[in-house]
Amino acid sequence: MTVRVRLWNEFWHERHNPEVRKVYPEGIHEVLAPALRAHGLEVRTATLEDPEHGLDEAALAATDVLLWWGHKQHEAVADRVVERVAARVHAGMGLVVLHSGHFSKIFRRLMGTPCTVNWRVATDTERMWVVKPEHPICEGLGRYLEIPREEMYGEVFEVPEPEELLMISWFTGGEVFRSALTWTRGRGKIFYFRPGHETYPTYRIAAVQAVIARGCRWAAPRGEGGAPPQNQRREPIERLP
Ligand code: ZN
Repeated sequence: MTVRVRLWNEFWHERHNPEVRKVYPEGIHEVLAPALRAHGLEVRTATLEDPEHGLDEAALAATDVLLWWGHKQHEAVADRVVERVAARVHAGMGLVVLHSGHFSKIFRRLMGTPCTVNWRVATDTERMWVVKPEHPICEGLGRYLEIPREEMYGEVFEVPEPEELLMISWFTGGEVFRSALTWTRGRGKIFYFRPGHETYPTYRIAAVQAVIARGCRWAAPRGEGGAPPQNQRREPIERLP
């Protein structure tokens, strides 16, 4: 099955912060897009500065899974676009939210909770322990996935109880974090995956790219069902007394 991914990147740090530009001169989206294509996904990119942030009705109608990276410009995302994306998720589009996307408008809108975390940018190693090895997203990871340098996120992650907890991260500084989680909202599947701070080359790690690719495949809507019949006022099917 062809999965049509729209990879959305705020694309702000890479243009305004020299430290980030050194790590991702082409932009995070231009690193991840070819990697995901190599995993067999159909990928189009979109950024904040595109008209309608690249997420107009036609673009979303042609999207099976929306992948989201944002951080500094969460508030610059138009509410009407957030509502449009939320409606598409409710109708069945998958959503994969990366790293600081935990505080994006769309993620908070769909979770309904503050979505805050503890954090620290230092010299932590992140060891992501796989707690559901049978899940398709965790395929081939073994016991854990280790990232040499990452930003620390610590509990409590203020999200609703996940439907599936796939990985728990441990950081050198001693904290832990639920770092790969799934939910369903309406007909749409949501996957949150923690790593990916902009000053570390995390998205160049093959195992990380593979998890994101499998997450997109997992979140894609199944079958050819199409739009369900609309809910509205109806005449009775049987003759009423
Ligand atoms: Zn970060």
